[in-house]
Order: sequence, then C-alpha cells, then structure tokens
Amino acid sequence: MFKQLGLIGCGLMGGSFALAMKQAGLVDRVIGYSKSPSTTEKARQLGVIDQAAESALLAVSGADVVLLAVPVAATEPTFKAIRHLVSPHTLFMDVGSTKRDVVDAARRALKDRVGAFVPAHPIAGKELSGVQHADAQLYREQQVILTPLPQTRPELVEKARALWGALGARVRVMTPEAHDAAFAAVSHFPHLLAFAYFTGILQQEQAEEFLRLAGPGFRDFTRIAASDPAMWRDVLIANREEILKQSEFFRGALGVLEQTLRDCEGDALEALVRGVSEARSHWRMGSGRPR
Ligand code: NAP
Repeated sequence: MFKQLGLIGCGLMGGSFALAMKQAGLVDRVIGYSKSPSTTEKARQLGVIDQAAESALLAVSGADVVLLAVPVAATEPTFKAIRHLVSPHTLFMDVGSTKRDVVDAARRALKDRVGAFVPAHPIAGKELSGVQHADAQLYREQQVILTPLPQTRPELVEKARALWGALGARVRVMTPEAHDAAFAAVSHFPHLLAFAYFTGILQQEQAEEFLRLAGPGFRDFTRIAASDPAMWRDVLIANREEILKQSEFFRGALGVLEQTLRDCEGDALEALVRGVSEARSHWRMGSGRPR
C-alpha cells in the first residue's frame, strides 16, 4: 500500500505504528527521526525503523506517508521544519492526544498546504513511554479518531481511514472541538484527578504505611498517575478549558457525596452509589450511554 513511511518521533506511539505497518505488510521502508540521535539509533537497532534520518525534513523526503508522533507542543516547529515537502501526494498524520491545538498549529505552519494533513488520535497507549515499549499490536481493536479540517483533502481522509483499518483499528471522524470536549471528560480530566489523588496521599505523614497496605483497587485507580510528565504537561495545558469544565462537574458530584456523608444519610448514599454502580456495570468500552 505504501512505499516509505517517514516517522518523526520514534517513541511509543510512533514506534508502534511503524511496527504495525511492517507487520501488516503495508510499507516497504521506514525512515525515522527523533530529537535525540540516541533514540533514533535505538529505534534502528530494535528494527522499528530501517534507516535513521538526521532531520525531520530528511525523514519526510521520498515518503508517501508521514507520521508525526511527537509531544503535541512540538507539532508546530515540526510542521515548519518539513513545510516545503508537504504536498497532497503524501499522507501526513499525527497521533496527538489533543486536536484543537494541533489543528491550529498545522494551519499556522502549513498555511495553504494544510489540506495534506489528516489529524489523528489513536485511543490506545500505555503509561510507559519510549521506543523500547513499542508494540505492533497497540492499535488492534482500538478506536482511532480522525479530525479533518474543512481544507483536508477527502481522498487523504479515506486513505487514512483505510490505513488505520488495515492495522485493525476502528475509525471515527469528528470535529477537533468535539474530540477535545469528549477526551477532556474520559481521558484528560481522569489523569488530572489521578495526579491530584496520589499527591494527596503523598502529602500525608503516614503515606508510606498507607501505600504499603494498598491493594488492587488502588493499583487500578492510580495506574494512570504514572504517566509521562512531559506528555501530560502538554496535553493538560493544550486542553485546559475543557478539562476545567470537567473539574466543575466532578466537584459538583463530589460535593453531593460529601454532604450525604456529613449528614450520615445511609439510604441516600446507597441510592447514589447504586445509580453509579449500575451505570458503570452496563458500560462497555466502545458503547455509549449506559442503559
Ligand atoms: P514518547 O514515547 O515519549 O515518544 C515521543 C518521541 O518524540 C520521543 O522519541 C522523542 O524523542 C520525540 N520527540 C520529542 N520532541 C521531538 C521533536 N521536536 N522532533 C522530533 N522528535 C521529537 O511519547 P508517546 O507516548 O509516543 O507520545 C507521542 C504522542 O502520542 C504525543 O503527542 C501524545 O499526546 C500522543 N499519544 C500518546 C498516548 C500514550 O498513551 N502514550 C496515547 C495517545 C496519543 P527523544 O527520545 O529524542 O526525546
């Protein structure tokens, strides 16, 4: 399907994409570039890329598909660096967790060439970063959201849809605004909450003892608090308005639960917990509103 993938950002997401494309037989060659030469070299040694490029521009040269898999704040300088090789003959995509800022960055950097860019967000990942954790199966059975701009060429959106589909992903298309509102609710705010919750534990004198006693529920609830700090700094800042809206909903719900506890209203508390418990037990990944 493709001759050459130009990979910019040889980390977890980019490395997994390269491995998945190779495993599916969708690409002949992968040329990779990462900020640190040591990362690019590691990607080559691991067989994630076939050849290391010395710049983003060189990674793009000759590619018919390009993936930006860099922190979202690096999107604009990266697009600026490769701008004059951006053309509709090549499919350009990203994997950023936020989309409004990425789309704005692409508009500023690419100007009249922005139609070659199909913004993408795979709803897959790990709290471990780095190419050593790249996994060819990462995108299988997972959702990928495409958020095309009005200028995005429809044939490239279809190409992107086919490519992710061939990697075993389920593709959905939505606006960048709808994407950022939804992922503030189901991903970005939960991360903020996990960081805050774990911080609250660490601030207590008995933190060590508490953590020693913690079981699987605590482990599951706090898993995402171990996520990559630089990546999450960028995501939280980029989508802060939507995340702060989610924080309001959360405070409202927590306030009701706290008041019920203060008043020691057992029946009301049970009814509240029953409502949530039923909703959560009917929810399945990929399904909408719980019945
Ligand atoms: P990662 O494992 O840390 O990989 C990021 C890679 O980008 C690193 O190899 C880094 O290179 C490179 N990089 C940083 N700045 C660069 C620049 N200016 N030019 C070229 N390369 C640069 O992180 P990741 O988890 O793959 O995340 C990448 C993107 O995926 C982020 O935008 C994130 O929002 C998105 N995403 C992540 C997840 C997840 O669960 N991890 C899920 C969905 C989407 P060095 O090693 O040289 O610093």
